[in-house]
Amino acid sequence: MHFSELASFFHTIENTSSRNEMTKILAELFKKLHEDEIDKVIYLLQGRIAPTYVKIDFGLGEKLVIKAITRALNIEHKHFMNRYKSKGDIGEAAEFFKKEIRSIGERDMTVKEVFVILEKITKASGGGSQDTKLALLAELIQTIDSLSTRYLVRIPINTLRLGFSDMTILDSLSWMLDGNKSHRPIIERAYQIRPDLGYIGKTVKQGGVHKLEKVKPEVFTPILMMKAQRLPTPQEIIDKIGKGIVEPKYDGFRLQVHYKNKKVKLFSRNLDDVTYMYPDIIEGIRKEVKAKEIIFEGEAIGFDPHSGSFLPFQETVQRKRKYHIQEKALEIPLKMFAFELLFLNGNDYINKPFEQRRKALEKQIKLSGDIFKDTLLLSPEKIADNDQILEEEFDDAISRGLEGIMIKKIDGVYQPGARGWNWIKYKRSQSSKIDDSIDCLVMGYDVGKGKRSGFGIGAFLAGVYDDKHDIYRTIAKIGTGLSDIEWVELRKRCDHIASNQRPALYEVDKQMNVDVWVKPKIVVEIQADEITRSSVHTAGRVMQATKSGKGSEVKASGYALRFPRLKRFRDDKKPEQATTLSELKQMYKDSKQ
Ligand code: AMP
Repeated sequence: MHFSELASFFHTIENTSSRNEMTKILAELFKKLHEDEIDKVIYLLQGRIAPTYVKIDFGLGEKLVIKAITRALNIEHKHFMNRYKSKGDIGEAAEFFKKEIRSIGERDMTVKEVFVILEKITKASGGGSQDTKLALLAELIQTIDSLSTRYLVRIPINTLRLGFSDMTILDSLSWMLDGNKSHRPIIERAYQIRPDLGYIGKTVKQGGVHKLEKVKPEVFTPILMMKAQRLPTPQEIIDKIGKGIVEPKYDGFRLQVHYKNKKVKLFSRNLDDVTYMYPDIIEGIRKEVKAKEIIFEGEAIGFDPHSGSFLPFQETVQRKRKYHIQEKALEIPLKMFAFELLFLNGNDYINKPFEQRRKALEKQIKLSGDIFKDTLLLSPEKIADNDQILEEEFDDAISRGLEGIMIKKIDGVYQPGARGWNWIKYKRSQSSKIDDSIDCLVMGYDVGKGKRSGFGIGAFLAGVYDDKHDIYRTIAKIGTGLSDIEWVELRKRCDHIASNQRPALYEVDKQMNVDVWVKPKIVVEIQADEITRSSVHTAGRVMQATKSGKGSEVKASGYALRFPRLKRFRDDKKPEQATTLSELKQMYKDSKQ
């Protein structure tokens, strides 16, 4: 396929607001592709040249991309900036000039050719590499047509967001096969084990869904992480799970470890490759893991070697950083508590019962049991079949400064990417009526009046994820509870992903429109006092016909948050990992008990 044809698809998708339409357009695109093109096209659709869990760095910030454009088209920087400011999008500005200025050597490049050059840009390193990168991008801009330029220049600066989620791609692959979404469950299951959309697309092209049914975990490809359900009382937990295994719930961060022949990779819950951040954990793994190849998970938490106690999340989280890694590692040493085994020496453990996974894991980690000496430890466990044990374990965890407990169904399988009932968390309840915080997507913002008009942001619209329909629904407009620094930070983050129109995946009531929409990216943790019913939000909205004096009218009522306030940015979560509508409904129900 030629890149210009792909650019026309980008254009159609960008101007489509219905998710169903998008699914069909993507399916039509996938149908046209050869099996060794589809993976590349899928990465490009995501504005990338590799799966999302692979770190890629074009090494070209916005300034350099602008330099490449002005150099390629021989225009003045000032001239370009004026157009960029008026359009608000670098791609549209570049397209405008490219339409006017024809370069020598313009030709229709194939998708593969463009892909190879983008790869070259990421690979150029060392002295003089910046010039090489600039020259490669400028040459591309000279060669391709104007519409292609619009999309190409957004890629290095990560602003090609066409407004669909990974789930839309999965639906489209099913649609490509049969003109319906019937294959989505099988495709999604494979994606949960190998969340590389390019690989999934290519495998479907090669052997249909049958080939996907055989997909196994692969060391160094992260597996979507299982999530925990919640219940408000130990009795309900026992009723639900029967016999379980209790473990302390550490308030640190989750890591998925991939290990083969002494090579280690670490993935965050968001499937980011965070290997470089934790040299102490890597060393511990190399020392203490016996297996030849293994995928396992655990929670890393800061530890104070003087007092022998765990550190609160606010301190542990300081280890998530790009710079001064070694110094911080000395200041805040980590302990990693392993709790899950997913793959071992060629064998898939995902569908084995928890007890079996746990036993096999115990054999793979050298157990000295000395928390002062080892970095990698096994999470302690206790069998529980009554609420009394849960109460005791919970009190014990809280007294050690931990967050609560996790209860795992003894014969439960690992459910990749799902929030299943095989894991249930029981956390300390806060003083507010709802125990847990809510992870929301930032959907847009109002520019603000009064004191905060200086920050250019006065309130933001927050939403939860409706996983049944793959859309985001609003739950609160938040104008308080942020420090000045947080407002500035939020505005800065929003600037990179502002959108001229309301993204297709947002369901918003007219009354909740905002001055500026932002594309789905920023997840924030919100604490609120209560979940209430409200007619202005779309989360959980049901249309009800009511009879009034003037005849019948349709009334809508969704959920809203009372006194919402920001707790922290959740950079470890993707938009689809925000609190789901069904969780919210459950929280509402629990809070009313
Ligand atoms: P939450 O983030 O509140 O939904 O709770 C689930 C998270 O608890 C997991 O993603 C882990 O990061 C963390 N966690 C802490 N201790 C454990 C444990 N023993 N087993 C499983 N998850 C744990």
